[in-house]
Amino acid sequence: MSRVCWTLLILIFSNAAYAQTQIPEPKVVKINERVYALLGPMGLPSQHNQGYMVNSTVIVGDQGVILVDSGGTDEVGQHLAKAIAKITPKPVTHIINTHHHGDHVLGNIAFKGAEILSSEQCRALVSKTGEEWVQIMESLVGRKFPGTRPVPAMVTFQEDSTSDRNLQGVKMRLWVPRGSHTPGDMMVYLPDDKVLIGGDILVNTTTPVMRDGHIRNWIAALAKAQDFKAATIVPGHGPLMTMADVVKLHKLLAGFYAGVEAGYKKGLSDSEIRNTLDLSEWKKLKEYEVNMGANISRAYLEVEVANF
Ligand SMILES: [Zn+2]
Repeated sequence: MSRVCWTLLILIFSNAAYAQTQIPEPKVVKINERVYALLGPMGLPSQHNQGYMVNSTVIVGDQGVILVDSGGTDEVGQHLAKAIAKITPKPVTHIINTHHHGDHVLGNIAFKGAEILSSEQCRALVSKTGEEWVQIMESLVGRKFPGTRPVPAMVTFQEDSTSDRNLQGVKMRLWVPRGSHTPGDMMVYLPDDKVLIGGDILVNTTTPVMRDGHIRNWIAALAKAQDFKAATIVPGHGPLMTMADVVKLHKLLAGFYAGVEAGYKKGLSDSEIRNTLDLSEWKKLKEYEVNMGANISRAYLEVEVANF
């Protein structure tokens, strides 16, 4: 075969491979001169999104960048690094993990030398479940990620604490509510920027996932989040939110828990309770079918323990 034919074949095959592994671009939203939301695709990890389906926040400080949530694989982390390089030449010096779920933390490894901050529980759960999360990502995306390894935080914060920090000249309030979406959530508030970064305690247009959660703590966290004077809210998944969206989410979760509790007190089983709940608002959310059964079971168990 001629050299031209070989060249063509190589081009065709390398393009096919490229099409298969291409990670979708984030939607970059400039909130102000130094804060940017990188809104990722929505949905479960898949071949289509290559494990990129989470929001991140980029805070450009004096000498370096603080990145909140690093993506679901080493490749997604590198992909985010490229998106950050288009915003600023400054290096990522700090990463904040909002919780231990793999889609938020497995990109940590792409940022060598960055100091990682999280709650104590998040750190423990990244160490304990990180390898399982790599396997979950691999099975959902349909290929191996040999370069993806969990990297837990070096700096941690206690449950039910609020800490004021100045990182790279940016004031931030790190709030670890009592375990809500997971046992180790952290929310980040930037008082000078009036930006609240919610992790998965705050999700928008998609179903809150309660599998690892504590729903009453979550409802309490949603009530307290309304005290922040935030003008812009970055959820863990979905488009940017306003405080009105947080109020709506708070009511949705509180109504859901109250409905399950009322059913329990009537002596209904969890499958009977499902038929008594008004799920009309929930049905409008993405991933409703995937998550709602587990959410009801989770709420039922929590009600049972609370009423024991
Ligand atoms: Zn999560």
